[in-house]
Amino acid sequence: MHMIEHIYINGQFVTPDGDEWLDIIKPADGSVIGKARLANAQDAERAIAAAAAAFPAFAATTVAQRITLLEQMYHAVNGAESELRAAILEEYGAPTARSEWMSRYPADVILQVIEELKRYPFVQQAGRAQVQMLPLGVAGLITPWNSNAGFICHKLATAIAAGCTAVIKPSEFSLLQTQVITRALHTAGLPAGVFNIVTGRGASVGEALSRSPQVAKISFTGSTATGKAILRSAADTFKRVTLELGGKSPTLILPDADAAQAAGLAVQAGFINSGQACIAGTRILVPEQRKAEFEQALTAAVAAEVSGDPADARTTIGPMVNEKQWQRVQHYIALGEQQGARLLTGGSGRPDGLHHGWYIRPTLFSDVTNEMPLAREEIFGPVLSILTYRDEAEAIAMANDSDYGLSALVIGADEQHARNVGEQLIAGRVMINTLAHEPRAPFGGFRHSGIGREMGQAGISAFLEPRALIAG
Ligand code: NAD
Repeated sequence: MHMIEHIYINGQFVTPDGDEWLDIIKPADGSVIGKARLANAQDAERAIAAAAAAFPAFAATTVAQRITLLEQMYHAVNGAESELRAAILEEYGAPTARSEWMSRYPADVILQVIEELKRYPFVQQAGRAQVQMLPLGVAGLITPWNSNAGFICHKLATAIAAGCTAVIKPSEFSLLQTQVITRALHTAGLPAGVFNIVTGRGASVGEALSRSPQVAKISFTGSTATGKAILRSAADTFKRVTLELGGKSPTLILPDADAAQAAGLAVQAGFINSGQACIAGTRILVPEQRKAEFEQALTAAVAAEVSGDPADARTTIGPMVNEKQWQRVQHYIALGEQQGARLLTGGSGRPDGLHHGWYIRPTLFSDVTNEMPLAREEIFGPVLSILTYRDEAEAIAMANDSDYGLSALVIGADEQHARNVGEQLIAGRVMINTLAHEPRAPFGGFRHSGIGREMGQAGISAFLEPRALIAG
């Protein structure tokens, strides 16, 4: 049994004032594998005070000093890779390839931030003004469960790069991963108070961060509903807010695409992170004249996915993170059938032979219209929908007809034509025949997918405010 009794404030592991104990549940079989004591709003206040006290000295550090600190952070996190992988497998249930990536990413992303910091222009000339980029102050960093360690490290490294201090509110469903990362960061030699980690409920700790007058900035990744609540709470104190929220991303397959190749890429895009990915391409748009062919290819690709024990190397889709998430996905599968979508493969319940754990049958629907909840709402599980279009104009209009605008994928044989189509899509990231990531490019969404951008130079700018100095 794992027992997590401490949070991290001002360079020390301390017992929280909060006294709620939360079970840690293994999603692969639903068993209780530990308990954690959660922080409350008072703990958040203590952490904010520590970060505020550390800010003036930290804001005065040089870029070279912060690069050194980030390098120390990198080495500490890198050394925790195998421990982190074990925690991700046990607590989150990511299959082998994914848990390997998820345990490497937190260290890799620190290196990416260091590279950006080395070329960030903190002082620029604008006419006769010297524009100086100043750190905002204490940053509240709030993370989701689907990539908790990655977001802790990414947001913290970026805040540090900018000269901000931080209070981190990790997801309460990522307790083991947070413990591994906290222990690693403790050994990194960062000055006390520069980062503080208070795991607790969103309604108490998260809310305390977004209301506090001492917090200048919130960087949040999570659901659109929570993003709205944070925006409202943050308004009174005019906090700078970066919100990375949900998505309902289109995969637009053009009429000249090879069916098998397109289906493989589309299913990969849809089932990233067992379908628990903000960027998952869950609306697959295919030309009506080739509907039967694409249905067949996509069905074959979805049916080839293996949903099961994440510790088994053959598994490609692990369990949902918890029972609530499993219920949510089941609800959407039932709704799809009730509302007239045609089930091609998968469906309700657990995969054959699995009686415990939060497993979903990889599911594909056709005859989905863009008005159905299947096509409009974020399901966050391995459930994909096929929609058909008659011509390119209709395809582009359908792709853009969404509350969201995070990501889009265009697949077509004629690369230049696919790119022309991509340039008409409203999304923060448009990929043409690839799922490649580019860490130097800004990441974030249009519309309800968020506000602002992370990554690259834009990511550092989001923790800074310009001051224009004009001499007479
Ligand atoms: P969530 O919104 O339920 O929780 C995210 C975090 O916010 C958690 O730490 C939670 O405790 C906290 N929180 C909850 N209520 C709060 C409040 N009132 N004030 C402050 N904090 C509060 O999201 P989740 O279920 O953990 O994560 C899944 C969601 O995250 C999905 O919608 C997904 O699309 C989104 N996501 C977006 C990106 C992106 O980069 N755009 C990346 C990953 C996940």
